[in-house]
Amino acid sequence: MKWTKAKKKKIEDKGPPRRGLWFTRSTLSKAFALGGCALCAVVLASERKGIHSFLYESMMSASVRQKFLDGGGFCSRHFWMAKEIEEETWLRGSIAVAILCEDLTRQANAGLANVAVVEPNSRTTLFRHREVKAFVPGHSCMFCQDNADKETFLAEVLEELVEEPEFAKPLERNGLCIRHGQLSLQLWKDQAKRKQLFAQIEAQVSELSADLREFIRKYDYQYRDEPRGREQDSVLRALRFFVGPDPWGKRIRTESA
Ligand SMILES: [Zn+2]
Ligand SMILES: [Zn+2]
Repeated sequence: MKWTKAKKKKIEDKGPPRRGLWFTRSTLSKAFALGGCALCAVVLASERKGIHSFLYESMMSASVRQKFLDGGGFCSRHFWMAKEIEEETWLRGSIAVAILCEDLTRQANAGLANVAVVEPNSRTTLFRHREVKAFVPGHSCMFCQDNADKETFLAEVLEELVEEPEFAKPLERNGLCIRHGQLSLQLWKDQAKRKQLFAQIEAQVSELSADLREFIRKYDYQYRDEPRGREQDSVLRALRFFVGPDPWGKRIRTESA
């Protein structure tokens, strides 16, 4: 597949200076080398790094801690990731997550008190009532926001980089996950590139769908003795396509080995 050839200088010359473009090039290049959606790989590595530095240092800053509280703490993904990172990193124990949780208990108490004063007959619409300030954990998780900013930036940079075979080839080989594929289609401005990306992701979905059907067919006892093929890892590929890689990784590596 040939992506539109354009002037190489375009990225550097276009618009306001892009932050650390050389770094993004190299990061994306390494992410493509891992296989799978490169944007997912970059985001996963960067959120883990971000959480580590949050626990190690930045959570002690009053403004950062306030941002954490304003977001209702972390979402499920990032809270569990924080706990995992804490356990991996501080083998002799750490109180970072304990401090964060203790902070949140005050918000939980406040939310609880707000909800408790609402009449029982309004219960069904409780969480939709603006005036009822229930505590919703991780409603504006700061790491989800960071991810969204990073994803947008990466998708925009990829539109430029895809003009180079170094990026076009692995993109064609690995594809993107559905979220990042759709995001790129929404952000890319070059019609020819959008068209090619759409065709590529559409082909990716068709192939995945056929592999899943084959996997399901071979589950039937009549066909179980047939030789196994590429359909065997289709469920893991489908999960990665829909929700990205397993953030904990270990289990997936074992299963797909
Ligand atoms: Zn992705
Ligand atoms: Zn989050």
